[in-house]
Amino acid sequence: MSLSCAFTTLVLAIHVYLAIGCPQLYGVQAPYLLYSRENWGAAPASDIHPLKTPVPYVIIHHTYLPAACNSTQQCKAAMKSMQNYHNSLDWGDIGYHFCVGSEGGAYEGRGWHNLGIHAGPVNNYSIGICLIGDWRVEQPPREMLETTKSLINTGILNGAISPTYELKGHSQIMATECPGTALLDIISKWDHYSEEQFVINKKDNVGEVWNLVMMVLLKFMMCTNILAVAVGAPALFRKDTDDNEVLTYDFPFVTRAQWSARTAKQKLSLQTPIPYVVIHHSYTPPACYDGPTCKKAMRSMQNFHMDDRGWWDIGYNFAVGADGAAYEGRGWDVLGAHALHFNNVSIGICLVGDWSNSLPPTSQLKTAQALIAAGVELGYLKEDYKLVGHRQVRDTECPGDVLFNEIQTWDHYAPFPASADDLPEVEELKKI
Ligand SMILES: [Zn+2]
Ligand SMILES: [Zn+2]
Repeated sequence: MSLSCAFTTLVLAIHVYLAIGCPQLYGVQAPYLLYSRENWGAAPASDIHPLKTPVPYVIIHHTYLPAACNSTQQCKAAMKSMQNYHNSLDWGDIGYHFCVGSEGGAYEGRGWHNLGIHAGPVNNYSIGICLIGDWRVEQPPREMLETTKSLINTGILNGAISPTYELKGHSQIMATECPGTALLDIISKWDHYSEEQFVINKKDNVGEVWNLVMMVLLKFMMCTNILAVAVGAPALFRKDTDDNEVLTYDFPFVTRAQWSARTAKQKLSLQTPIPYVVIHHSYTPPACYDGPTCKKAMRSMQNFHMDDRGWWDIGYNFAVGADGAAYEGRGWDVLGAHALHFNNVSIGICLVGDWSNSLPPTSQLKTAQALIAAGVELGYLKEDYKLVGHRQVRDTECPGDVLFNEIQTWDHYAPFPASADDLPEVEELKKI
């Protein structure tokens, strides 16, 4: 490319930038235009969880349908149609992190730091990039491939993708023809392409050091907590009398006032007694082992839910900390926002922390169970309530593999609905 040609391209790009208003020009490897969600008119995401970054995998997809798009207009329409389709599957947003059009534009899906829904067991560990079109026989245009590579480099630079990432096609993870034979052939020649099998428990050293620190911290907190009880420290154990309601829980309970909750923007009541309990983990914030940290976690979840998600309040009805205390969220009789399409018939309890690879401390598990028992005793929960993990009613990794295994041993655990397809079979849902 001659100098004048490069200059013309740059001027053109600037003009496109000015004309369209918002897309950003990135120049990591080859420059590409990034169209934000706003640019392509995305509907707000209704249920997303943060992604633990940097991720060790990049997964490449094709769409098959919609077909290849050759203009910004076509690609924006393709993004919208995918988002509509994925929302109809109850995914809460378009599944991919980014998509790329044949014109070389990059389109923001879930972005770099949200968990995607694109590759089943690997969602937690990967960024999913989708090359719009059917690339089984036909090869994607050069612009599309260049933008894909540049996009990956952007991800490395901003810390979303590990510099030692492995590149894979969707078909290497799941039984699918995606991303198409022609495209798979091409990426198999790219740097970082790997034929190695995906290892679900692949951990980085940082994670292990973190776990160790957490274990030491937990040990320390347990010791100091015992000490606190011994000297009669009352703080966490005092019962509050909010709203003239005297609660007599036999476990530490922290009211909204005690964790300095913001006032809910609006409330809808929940019809009691409630037939379901949905167990969640927070993933982030991480586990909290003392009152001040847990209160801070509550405030940060509430801020995130209210300010970023636009919800009326913290989504959960209750949360439980690794300090063994229950934290009041929306409470027993207020409709929550924690399990789309299931909020009407359930209480959502979040065990603060990431319980994918380790079990919450016994005190946290015991308090969660005691809280549920109290709900039955107080008449908020049906005596024959059913207990499920969030993943049973939605395509999500929540409440983490290890916690999910644990709750399967609890009383009232219900092995159904095993998938969203089973939901119409749920008696309680039919009536609503
Ligand atoms: Zn795919
Ligand atoms: Zn959840």
